[in-house]
Amino acid sequence: MAKYGKKNQRYFIGKGKVAKVIVNLSLDKGFDYLIPDTIASRVRPGAQVRVPFGHSERSGYVLAIDDYSAYTGTQLKAVIGLRDDAPQVNESLLKLADWMSMYYCCSKEQAVRTLLPGAVRSGKQKKKKVGSYFLGVTPEEAQKYIFKHEKRSPAKCAIVKILLQRHGISKDHLLGAAGAGDGPLRALVKSGEVERQEVVVARDPFANAELLRTTPADPTPEQKESLKVLSSMLARETKQHTMLLHGVTGSGKTEVYLQAIAEALERGEEAIVLVPEISLTPQTTERFRARFGEMVSVLHSRLSDGERFDEWMKIHEEKVRIVVGARSALFAPFRKLGLIVVDEEHENSYKQDEAPRYNARDVAVVRGALENAIVVLGTATPSLESYHNAVSGKYILSELTKRVDDYLMPKIRVVDMRDEAIETGQPSIYSRELIDDIRDRLRKGEQTIIFLNRRGFASQMMCRECGYVAGCTECSISYTYHRGRECLTCHLCGAILPAPKKCPDCQSAEIRYGGLGTEKVEAIACKLFSSANIARMDSDTMTRKDSYEKTLGAFRSGKIDILIGTQMIAKGLHFPNVTLVGVIYADLSLRIPDFRAQERTFQLLTQVAGRAGRGEVEGEVVIQTYSPFNPAIQYALEHDYKGFYEEEMELREVLAYPPAGHMIAVNIKGKDEEAVAEFAAEYLEKVKTAVHDDITVSGPNPSPIAKIKGNYRYAILFRGTGMKELRATLRNEALHGKRPNGIWVSVDADPLNLM
Ligand code: ADP
Ligand code: ZN
Ligand code: ZN
Repeated sequence: MAKYGKKNQRYFIGKGKVAKVIVNLSLDKGFDYLIPDTIASRVRPGAQVRVPFGHSERSGYVLAIDDYSAYTGTQLKAVIGLRDDAPQVNESLLKLADWMSMYYCCSKEQAVRTLLPGAVRSGKQKKKKVGSYFLGVTPEEAQKYIFKHEKRSPAKCAIVKILLQRHGISKDHLLGAAGAGDGPLRALVKSGEVERQEVVVARDPFANAELLRTTPADPTPEQKESLKVLSSMLARETKQHTMLLHGVTGSGKTEVYLQAIAEALERGEEAIVLVPEISLTPQTTERFRARFGEMVSVLHSRLSDGERFDEWMKIHEEKVRIVVGARSALFAPFRKLGLIVVDEEHENSYKQDEAPRYNARDVAVVRGALENAIVVLGTATPSLESYHNAVSGKYILSELTKRVDDYLMPKIRVVDMRDEAIETGQPSIYSRELIDDIRDRLRKGEQTIIFLNRRGFASQMMCRECGYVAGCTECSISYTYHRGRECLTCHLCGAILPAPKKCPDCQSAEIRYGGLGTEKVEAIACKLFSSANIARMDSDTMTRKDSYEKTLGAFRSGKIDILIGTQMIAKGLHFPNVTLVGVIYADLSLRIPDFRAQERTFQLLTQVAGRAGRGEVEGEVVIQTYSPFNPAIQYALEHDYKGFYEEEMELREVLAYPPAGHMIAVNIKGKDEEAVAEFAAEYLEKVKTAVHDDITVSGPNPSPIAKIKGNYRYAILFRGTGMKELRATLRNEALHGKRPNGIWVSVDADPLNLM
């Protein structure tokens, strides 16, 4: 064993005799090993090998083969053997991991790990069944359980809390997230609070789905133009390999993807389609399976480890040629990749919020470049980053400005809730205009979607007497009140406690609930429209395995008149009978202290509005707001993306915010606030040599949410151009720098969450 990377001296060992191996440890290094002749033909980059390490044996991945080493032949130890049970990684994917490790400032090992699903990496998973865990009781019962047992069985309660937030989770993930052991879980399964479900033998996630095959539609003139450009891209005739497909909602982007994929297949190439996790519904994936049948593999987070392993092996063994999936599907081990589609490219969920903090959209463009594949970024509301790249000529811009079949874009109206309050004498949740519109739809048998991007009943519980606000002790936010379950919860750490009947400070019973949530919007709807069937869709109501599909199914079949929800219903759904969309409080996303608040609001409004009028009847959208003249709202109203882009870009240019410059955030946290602040200052001092005139530094400052789960949080922001050296310095400091115990540092390149 010898360290890899000494530059000054290199010894010739023999042609192709040295394997650079990354060992399954959190080390950011490769180590050199001799390759024995007996296995030389099979030891290739990406292969999994067993090697001696210290006094033990480890498995690792071969990063590269070399003729030289910084050590002499006699100093090097030899590779013990290959792990034939574990699949190897493509060489080009290793290069991609290498790029990710540099760009996103994470260790090589972390980046390589990302390439392989845990079930494949561990080598433990053979083709067999694996169970997933679900709540076995209703959320209300789960909650009662927590109140009752919090003190005596914290481990069990931690498990139940996780399952209240996530459903269908593997045992390892569940126990890891809850920080609990096997025993409490087994007890919960026995007493019924938790349910374990074996996944069917074939593990085909579509076992029951019957699909009608579709054939390519005759493209509209605009679609034809996009496809023509894509054709020449696939023939590798263009300078650029990435297209931004900017198409309004319902303009037939998906049909363009489908026909471009067909062309890639004809060329003998393979395709990856990325969709945001939230829109990875059967409704979306069926369109690909209906066109390409068994050639499609779907990777989503509800797959059990076993299913995931099977799907990955199908790709690896070239049994499928198209993969549809969320973020990590980008790393599908295809060898003749021709096309990557990133649908809804503006979505934040493409960014992973733990290391490596990569953005799958951007990594897709890099993978495309490395493997000479074409990349299509599709959306109705491009991120400023992608549009900027299109305007500057780095990407090809293709536009679909009309809806298919000339269905009209929905008519959008704004209701000024300040006037509404003056005229009705009190602030209201539903304006009179929206109420009339909903009643009108109920009469006609048409459907309505009501949108508010905050769950719960009220976002704040306050005492009228003394001003006390119930806030999480571990996080610097207030508790959200959930009336159905009579509890307060923290949306950051998952804490949950019974809602007090009296003020804990002054014992007054004058408790007031402020700030809206979907639960309250639903409660009021039930009063206003008592004859209607109303359903709510947010992460509180969607805790059981099939609840999402069940509610959507009921809505599709017309059993529900009014669907109320958070962003869960804002994206990608296609219901021809929805003719009205109401946005309760458009100001919510504007108030977030983030330079992207305007952009997010514009996107959200446009996407929600796009749910209306996807059938023969023209759709209408009512946006309620207290800031009707805000540019994000005004441009959304006019369906004017370009206008919005130009106005917003001016601001970004002035402040050197992305995409006018690059941004890297360094986040530092720990339980001791003073130590965190002190270390943050020290950290900045250490990396300052790499900061030059074109880079602006802000901070260290406390983050907008100053405390989460008991950890105080500080951030340093770097923005500007020419960040390569800084990136390397930050990476080195984060991976190898010394830091006091109890302090955590993470580097976030191109951060999307600055809270
Ligand atoms: P987008 O992805 O841009 O929101 P979709 O691809 O979902 O739009 O298209 C909207 C609807 O129009 C879908 O029902 C789709 O099947 C249909 N469609 C798309 N292209 C065509 C076409 N060329 N001819 C007829 N129908 C089409
Ligand atoms: Zn009080
Ligand atoms: Zn909390």
